[in-house]
Amino acid sequence: MVPNFHEKLEEYAHLLVEVGLNIQPGQLVRVAAPVECAPLARLCAQAALDQGAKDVVMEWTDDFITRQRYLKADGKVFEEFPSYLKEKFDWMLQEECTALSIIGSDPEMLRGVDASRIQAWQRVQGKNTRAWHDALSANRFQWSIGAHPTRAWAEKVFPDKKGEEAIDALWEAIFTVCRISGDGKAVERWKEHVEATARRAKLLNEYNFRTLHYTNSLGTDLTITLPENHVWAGGSEDTPRGVEFVANMPTEEIFTAPRWDGVHGRVYAAMPLALNGNLVKDFYLDFENGKIVGIHAGEGEEYLRDSVNTDEGASYLGEVALVPYDSPIRNSGILFYNTLFDENASCHLAYGSAYPNCVKGGEKLDEAGQKAVGLNQSMTHVDFMIGTQDLSIVGTTQDGREIPVFEDGNFAF
Ligand code: ZN
Ligand code: ZN
Repeated sequence: MVPNFHEKLEEYAHLLVEVGLNIQPGQLVRVAAPVECAPLARLCAQAALDQGAKDVVMEWTDDFITRQRYLKADGKVFEEFPSYLKEKFDWMLQEECTALSIIGSDPEMLRGVDASRIQAWQRVQGKNTRAWHDALSANRFQWSIGAHPTRAWAEKVFPDKKGEEAIDALWEAIFTVCRISGDGKAVERWKEHVEATARRAKLLNEYNFRTLHYTNSLGTDLTITLPENHVWAGGSEDTPRGVEFVANMPTEEIFTAPRWDGVHGRVYAAMPLALNGNLVKDFYLDFENGKIVGIHAGEGEEYLRDSVNTDEGASYLGEVALVPYDSPIRNSGILFYNTLFDENASCHLAYGSAYPNCVKGGEKLDEAGQKAVGLNQSMTHVDFMIGTQDLSIVGTTQDGREIPVFEDGNFAF
């Protein structure tokens, strides 16, 4: 058993609701969670109602049934989005329902499932829930993501431990990287962390770099052009009504969008990538005018190719994120097989959609307008890790000055 488990779990729920979502009185909250994550989901629902939420809309999922459906259900069901679900998403959008996702799925849940079924469903779902997801990614109302270990996930992360022992080890790791100690001060610690991150983002915005040049000993040699009026964000974000929230818990990154057509060179992954439960290892990507023109992986190359071919925009980048090599997650030495954590271990890029507010005023533009200012459009968004201990990043300002941004894997300022 994890020492002070119940205190820590309560502290986590408060952190997610008070700092992650920052629920305001009268707001609706949608909590989505796998059934195995019920203990945390319940505490979050309770904390949200205690904070004055109008109501909690619960959405349970189940890995076992999801897998059974993908393997055995009539293929047609993955090609049509049920109208009642569409109505639900439209209703949540209209109600400006805040969203908390608690994740804990088996990283290999979809192993061996026909990839075309998954992609068909992702396309159909993407299209029909687009308005809702666009509103969230434009931060029109608060959203946040937390995690709860499940047995399959914990045993994947700690292969030499079994059952409860693995689950406890994963809880300890999650609490540590979320700065939760059971002393009730996590909310305070997060406020400090968020401020420190915001200071660095402000500096990056003042530099207003034209390009970033990445190099390391793996062979990465990549130049990324940033859009005019790009905005670096990190730590917390604000809704149009000025409600501050933290979208990912934990978060260590400061991120913006690249120009979709402004990426050149080669980048090597620093960590394996989990794609729908399949691992892609030792890979690199080659870019020309922003487009991925070469893919090579030591293992799982076919999954990476499928993913990059989800739609036209999936073969262009949508995110550039800076994370110091000395982050609590990297220092834990644990590969979580989960983007929420692993993306905060390392500098990363994402292929697929860009966050619209990474360019000033981007959230007010339509799709074509966003593309014109450099923001990539896609139904997918997949982060992959590229930060190594020897990563160097040099920024070039609009007037041609070269400024070190990263030296030996960490911020140079
Ligand atoms: Zn990111
Ligand atoms: Zn991302």
